[in-house]
Amino acid sequence: ARRTIEKGRALHKRTAELFFQCLREDSRGLQGRDYLHRRGVSDSVAVAFGLGFAPQQWDFLTERLLREGYSTEELEQFGLALRRAGGEGHYDRFRNRLIFPIFDGQGRPIAFGGRVLGDEMPKYLNSPETPLYKKGQHLYGLHKAGPFIREKGMAILVEGYMDVITCHQHGVTQAVATLGTALTIEQGRLLLRYGSSVLICYDGDRAGTAATIKAGRILTELGAKVKVLHLQEAKDPDEFLQSQGASKLWQAIDKAPTYIEYRYKQAHAQQNLNSVEGKVATIRELAPDLLSIPSAVEQEANVQWLAKQVGISDSSIIEELRSLSHSRP
Ligand code: ATP
Ligand code: MN
Ligand code: MN
Ligand code: MN
Repeated sequence: ARRTIEKGRALHKRTAELFFQCLREDSRGLQGRDYLHRRGVSDSVAVAFGLGFAPQQWDFLTERLLREGYSTEELEQFGLALRRAGGEGHYDRFRNRLIFPIFDGQGRPIAFGGRVLGDEMPKYLNSPETPLYKKGQHLYGLHKAGPFIREKGMAILVEGYMDVITCHQHGVTQAVATLGTALTIEQGRLLLRYGSSVLICYDGDRAGTAATIKAGRILTELGAKVKVLHLQEAKDPDEFLQSQGASKLWQAIDKAPTYIEYRYKQAHAQQNLNSVEGKVATIRELAPDLLSIPSAVEQEANVQWLAKQVGISDSSIIEELRSLSHSRP
């Protein structure tokens, strides 16, 4: 097992180099360079994140790595090559895509993501789970953001590769991404090793909003201080920074509500708080979030705040929470 891991590390290191060289200096990487320029990604941040390019070729990687002594079994095991349907031979998984290496905590590449340059589907293709890479256990960009999260005490959680890269380019250096998937408890724990507060800044669409609620609850349960920045002026942090710039983002971050305040605002927008049903529905809507606060003191402070907002006594809300927590599985 240990030898497999070592081999996998060497394979990823070499693969990252080959994709990197292709993007930086190969004529086959020209489209990739153009694409990055169109998206406003600077050379220095592209280099810092080790971005690469996989050319439109069936065997760019496979041919080269077999020549260098790797076996088809190894390439297949680490998700870099796929077996031909007919049985004979292998071909590259990543073709004609911009390549984002995914790094472990020590900055070693352990997987890859690849983006098409146009509107083809799927937009992103990622390495499968391998002996090196368990997708729910890593956060994209953490090897760079870690020290900044420690320094500033706050992490910024975004959805995607481009969000992290554009954030770093604009000096928002504590940004990390879950890579589309919902935040796992393991990712939450990992993040909280660096700082106790997290600002969630997912995409403003429905999927992003749903993922925000789930991530907020997980982080709250883990004892984090959680804030939410729901972007309205752009669809994600990348586009926000490209169109409005970093100082606008920092202003919005300064004004971002706590997770509970954000949840209250959402309920408020849907319920008529002048009606009894509206008040009851709001309290029930927030109950799972309030119940997930591990500290009794913080929970009480939030209950008091909510009580004031809806005009119901603290004790009634606590009573309601109790009965809801008993009826929960
Ligand atoms: P871009 O700005 O390049 O269009 P994005 O990051 O805004 O990309 P989203 O659709 O918001 O794209 O997705 C967020 C993240 O989710 C992506 O960065 C990627 O990590 C992951 N993702 C998106 N689509 C897919 C897919 N089809 N397969 C696997 N992962 C995906
Ligand atoms: Mn999205
Ligand atoms: Mn997005
Ligand atoms: Mn985007």
